[in-house]
Amino acid sequence: MTKTNYDNAVIEQENLKYEGKAKQVYLTNQPDILWIHYLDQATALNGKVKETIIGKGEINSKISHLLFTYLQKHGVAQHYLKTVSQTDELVQALQMIPIEVVSRNFAAGHFVSRFAVPNQMPLHPVVQEFYYKSDALDDPFINDSQILALGFANPDELVVLRQQAQIINDLLGQLFEQVGIRLVDFKLEFGKNSAGRIILADELSPDNMRLVDQQTGHSLDKDVFRQHTGDMTVGYREVLRRLEQVI
Ligand code: 5GP
Repeated sequence: MTKTNYDNAVIEQENLKYEGKAKQVYLTNQPDILWIHYLDQATALNGKVKETIIGKGEINSKISHLLFTYLQKHGVAQHYLKTVSQTDELVQALQMIPIEVVSRNFAAGHFVSRFAVPNQMPLHPVVQEFYYKSDALDDPFINDSQILALGFANPDELVVLRQQAQIINDLLGQLFEQVGIRLVDFKLEFGKNSAGRIILADELSPDNMRLVDQQTGHSLDKDVFRQHTGDMTVGYREVLRRLEQVI
């Protein structure tokens, strides 16, 4: 499908604007709307390992839709507009801020390797980190003054990024708690709309969050792929199944 209706207008998919590791972003005939296609693809080590995973695009699209809808209901400004098909959606076109905002409730991944602490150690306060989004540089850690000096955000915008990440962490943490899942950590990306408002963008799926089943301790996220411990879609489907019961 390359056409759909939105807000009484026909939206047509146009040229590919950008291809990420698990998504394609297309322009449309409306400058303020983008068309996202979720790929059946998983990558690790910043794209050095790549595999086709049948059905993953559809699962991630559904999980992301559910989580954006939930956050929207709770007043978070976000980019999702409409689901077009099982793997495609329309989103607001934004001027993306090239910063990945990571929130950590429990130690895992790079936090464990960087600080040599036990996996799943609770973190109080919640740790917030910024990374500069650059494949060529392997997304390096970046601090507040580096962000300001490089002009990626101004002081007010930095405050908003931190506040939004905290609000979203609280909301997602409560939601996952309801379905017996621990929200260990996750990554967010934001953009600015034409009025300069900061809006949550990108996707929300087990590709960019660590989720652990509270009963079994099993990973329900991309760590299964990163660590070759099984079929990643089993956990992803379980996350989707549980979220569908409460959203
Ligand atoms: P870590 O820094 O431990 O590798 O990742 C922390 C959290 O942010 C994890 O949930 C991870 O999935 C997410 N994350 C960090 N960087 C990226 C990235 O470049 N892409 C995606 N999809 N997720 C990321």
